[in-house]
Amino acid sequence: MNTLLHSADLASPRRTKIVGTLGPGTDAPERALALIKAGLDVARVNFSHGGAGEVIKRTKAIREAAEQFDRQIAILADLQGPKLRITGFKEGKIILEEGARFIIDTRHGVKDGDLERVGVTYKDLPKDVEVGDSLLLDDGNIKLLIEEIDEHQVITRVIVGGKLSDSKGVNRQGGGLSVSSLTDKDHLDIGTAAKIEADYLAVSFVHAAEDIHQARRLFREAGGSGGIVAKIETSEALSNIDEIIEAADVVMIARGDLGVEVGDAQLVGLQKKIINHTRSRNRIVITATQMMQSMVDSPQPTRAEVMDVANAVLDGTDAVMLSAETAIGRHPEKVIEAMDRICRGAERERIAVVSGHRMDSSFDNTDEAIAMATMYTANHMGAKAIVALTESGKTAKYMSRISSGIPIYALTRSIATERRACLYRGVYPVFFDPTQISEGTINRGAVEELVQRGAVKEGDLLILTKGDFTGVAGGTNAMKIVTVGKVA
Ligand code: PGA
Ligand code: MN
Repeated sequence: MNTLLHSADLASPRRTKIVGTLGPGTDAPERALALIKAGLDVARVNFSHGGAGEVIKRTKAIREAAEQFDRQIAILADLQGPKLRITGFKEGKIILEEGARFIIDTRHGVKDGDLERVGVTYKDLPKDVEVGDSLLLDDGNIKLLIEEIDEHQVITRVIVGGKLSDSKGVNRQGGGLSVSSLTDKDHLDIGTAAKIEADYLAVSFVHAAEDIHQARRLFREAGGSGGIVAKIETSEALSNIDEIIEAADVVMIARGDLGVEVGDAQLVGLQKKIINHTRSRNRIVITATQMMQSMVDSPQPTRAEVMDVANAVLDGTDAVMLSAETAIGRHPEKVIEAMDRICRGAERERIAVVSGHRMDSSFDNTDEAIAMATMYTANHMGAKAIVALTESGKTAKYMSRISSGIPIYALTRSIATERRACLYRGVYPVFFDPTQISEGTINRGAVEELVQRGAVKEGDLLILTKGDFTGVAGGTNAMKIVTVGKVA
C-alpha cells in the first residue's frame, strides 16, 4: 500500500500538518482516499453545519480510507458553540444596499427574512448592544451600524452591503457579545464526538479555562478520550490566554471570528504571540481560516495566500487548516496539494529549522529533559532521525516543540497515540508493539521496523529514546545514539 508517513513522502517529509474540513465538497465516493493521498493528516468534522448523521458518515469514510493506506488520520470534532447567527431568508439570500435600513428582529420567523428584516438565534441581542455599535455579519463582509433598539428589534443602517445568505454569523465589533459556555446543542454533539471516538474535540468561543475544563469533563463522561482544542476567537479569550493554553491540549487561532472581534490589524501580532506561547507551554497549535480561501473556486492560490501559509509555517505552527476550501470547495485535493507544496517550501528556510533550544528553561519532568537533550544532540550531531519509543506520545510531543529539520518517529503500540500525533509538527507516528518482542531486542526491532518501512537506511545515525519499562506511559528516561546496521 502507501508509505507509512502520514504527511510525508520518504524523500522529503513534510513537518507541518494539514487539517482539512469535511463537508458536501468531500462527500463523493473515493474523495476520502484522494484527500489522504494529497496529504491530509487531520480531518475536521464541523457540528456548525450538517447533523450528527453527516458527522458519523464522514468520519467513517475517512477511517475506512485511512485503513486502505495502512495509516491513521486524526478526527477533530468541532463544536458550534454559542455563535450568534441570523436565521434564514425566504429566498435563501438577499443583496443589502449600502445606506439601507435593516432590522434584526428576535421575534422573526426562521425562514422569513427579506430585504427589510431577518431573525436571529440570540434572543437577548437587543439587551447586549447599544446605539452606535457596529455589527459585523458573515465574518465582516457586511457591516451594520445600530441606530435604534427596542425590546425585540435592533434597527440598523447598512454601512457595507453585499450578499447575505442564511445562517451567517453575527459579531459585535470589539467583542463582548457571545455568551460563554457550552450550548445544549454542544452537549448533544459531545455525545456524538465520543461515539465516533474523536481524537480531538474543539470548543468554540472559549472565554476562560473553565470552558475547557467543562468540555473535558463532559467529553470524558460521554466516554471520549481525545484531546481538547481551545479555539481562540473572542476578545475575552485573549484576556485569559495563559490559563486557556494551560487548560487545553491544543490551541486553534480561529482567525475568522477573532479578526472580526479584534480587528484585522491585530491578527498578525496575535498569531505570532499565540504560536510562541503555545509551543513554549508544550501545547500544540493550529492556524486556521481563509488560508487558501480563493481556492473555494479557483484552481490555484493567490500569491498572498501562498505567503500566508508559508509565514504560518515560519511562525512555528504545528498545523494549517482548511475550512470552506475543502468542505464546500471545488478542488479539495488540489488545495491540499498546494498547501503541502507551500509548507514544504517554507520548511526549507533556515528559520524554520533553527532552534533557540530553551537554554534558560528548566524542565518539569524526566521525559521532557530527555526530549530536550535529544533535540540538542540531534540538531548538533546532524542525526538522520529520532526514534521515540512512546506509549502516550508525550516524549515525541516535547521533542516537536523544538524547531528542527530532523524527523521524529513516534513508535507506539497505541492507536490513540498514533492518531493524536498526526497533529504534531515533525512527528510521524508508526505502529510498533515492544511488548510483543523480548526486552533485549527492542532497540534493534524498532530500528528494523523503520528500515523495513523505508524511513531510514544502513549507516544512518539515529537517536533513540525509551524507558526502562517499554509499554508504560510517562517513563522515558534514556537516550541512546545508534547507527543503523550496528544496533545492539
Ligand atoms: P469556525 O472557526 O470555522 O468554526 O468559525 C474558525 C474561525 O472562526 O476562524
Ligand atoms: Mn469561529
